[in-house]
Amino acid sequence: MRTGASYLAALSDGREIMIDGKLVEDVTRHPAFAGVCRTIAGLYDFIASHPDEMTFTSPSSGKPVSLAHIIPRSREDLARRRHALTRIAEHTFGLLGRSPEHVAGFIAGFASAPELFARQGARFGENIRRFHQKIRDEHLYVTYVIIPPQVDRSKTAHEQAESHIPAGVFKETSEGLIIRGAQMLGTASAISDYLFLSCIQPLKPGDENYAISLAVPMNAPGLRLYPRRPYAMGATSVFDYPLSTRFDESDALVVFRDVLVPWDHVFVDRNVALTRAQWFETPAHILGNTQAQIRLVTKLKFLAGLARKISSTNGVDSIPSVTWDLGEIASLASLVEGMVLAAESTAVTNANGVVHPNPRFLYGVMGLQAQIYPRMIHLLRELVGGGVLQVPSSVAEFANPDAAADLRRYVQSPGVSADERVKLFKLAWEMIGSEFGGRHQQYEMFYSGAPFVAKTYSFRNYDFTESLGLVQSCLSGYDMNSKCVSSE
Ligand SMILES: Cc1cc2nc3c(=O)[nH]c(=O)nc-3n(C[C@H](O)[C@H](O)[C@H](O)COP(=O)(O)OP(=O)(O)OC[C@H]3O[C@@H](n4cnc5c(N)ncnc54)[C@H](O)[C@@H]3O)c2cc1C
Repeated sequence: MRTGASYLAALSDGREIMIDGKLVEDVTRHPAFAGVCRTIAGLYDFIASHPDEMTFTSPSSGKPVSLAHIIPRSREDLARRRHALTRIAEHTFGLLGRSPEHVAGFIAGFASAPELFARQGARFGENIRRFHQKIRDEHLYVTYVIIPPQVDRSKTAHEQAESHIPAGVFKETSEGLIIRGAQMLGTASAISDYLFLSCIQPLKPGDENYAISLAVPMNAPGLRLYPRRPYAMGATSVFDYPLSTRFDESDALVVFRDVLVPWDHVFVDRNVALTRAQWFETPAHILGNTQAQIRLVTKLKFLAGLARKISSTNGVDSIPSVTWDLGEIASLASLVEGMVLAAESTAVTNANGVVHPNPRFLYGVMGLQAQIYPRMIHLLRELVGGGVLQVPSSVAEFANPDAAADLRRYVQSPGVSADERVKLFKLAWEMIGSEFGGRHQQYEMFYSGAPFVAKTYSFRNYDFTESLGLVQSCLSGYDMNSKCVSSE
């Protein structure tokens, strides 16, 4: 299987990433990305060295491939997939939203329904099937941009003041489609192999040029990334910035400066109905977002662990009001875990024989995510107090004997040395108060669309007929003539 070293080698391919007004020469060596590249390389090595729990046999090559790419055909497949995705999330404490497993779930979902893409012509169905096979067998890393840039949200793609603000077809040639425009927000695109481009926001007649679904290699000529400020760049040491130095996956505005996409990488070609149908008439959205929730379960466990460890370090973990906060944290973490398990144990088999988690429970918990995650962070903030700021400016203070003596005396807890305490509280601050932590809150609130979008998914997938039936049954049990028992 692909190793970390071969993943890293593939990234030095001339991709265009702009940082501080200059193009990055080699993403694997640039301070913005070097740390997270090593983290992903570690994931590849981990998967390759644990084939029993992390892989299944490729139906095309007969070789072991990552379970992230499986098209589940049974409850057992779903459980194996969840187990593997959990192990991967544990490797990164759930901190990489767009690690290689995320878009892999979407592509597996698309490929499970090639007939949908073939509605436009058999070759499009074949294209998605072959792309899935390629990324599965070569263990490639795909990220996606499926949201038009935030310019004027009151208008759809073709109504914007200028054409090709959102990425869309500029021209068609015998070789393929020329794409012009931009899309947001390419998380981890800088360190992936391929970029999937489409649109999940509703499009309407007139938007055909923007109703596409396709894939491009990250070094495609004309593809340019403008990442936000990478947090690893300001970091002075891993001890002081344990998360941003290793887990900043980066987010970027992606600009297509007339990028040629060969026909065999086009899955939907200027078709509004199909662009919509790919998300919701295949299990793609469910499989991709189930991976996201499995990852979130690990991240919430990690936050719960931080809360518990900090409370016990400060000697407050048996005070009732603190145990109530810890209890609420435990409830929130259990709620997400329980919903993932509920969705799996009530899994649905679709017409193609694909077994996917029950959307009612998946979207049910996604609809609350914009409340659950900020609440977890708030509770953690409440528990850590000012301890996260009662830390030296950097690890260098410990190398100065005069300063170290003060720190070792005043920044300690019973049974916990100053070194350990500072380490723990700096970790907590990165998670809740740093730029890295703030970005994580934004990510969890928005990664699957704005909070109102996630609630809409929940609304659509809940069986209100059951609820209405209960209300009707209650209403039918009495009328204007019904008397109270006591007055009979
Ligand atoms: C950290 C991070 C990483 C991301 N990574 C990716 C990625 O890898 N790939 C990708 O494709 N996308 C990614 N996204 C983009 C994400 O999908 C979008 O943020 C999301 O779809 C919401 O779009 P928006 O940010 O433009 O917010 P908007 O849609 O503009 O919404 C912002 C707010 O405006 C209001 N609003 C806007 N429109 C309406 C409406 N029609 N009705 C009612 N209220 C409305 C709501 O209050 C809403 O909360 C990422 C986002 C974040 C924050």
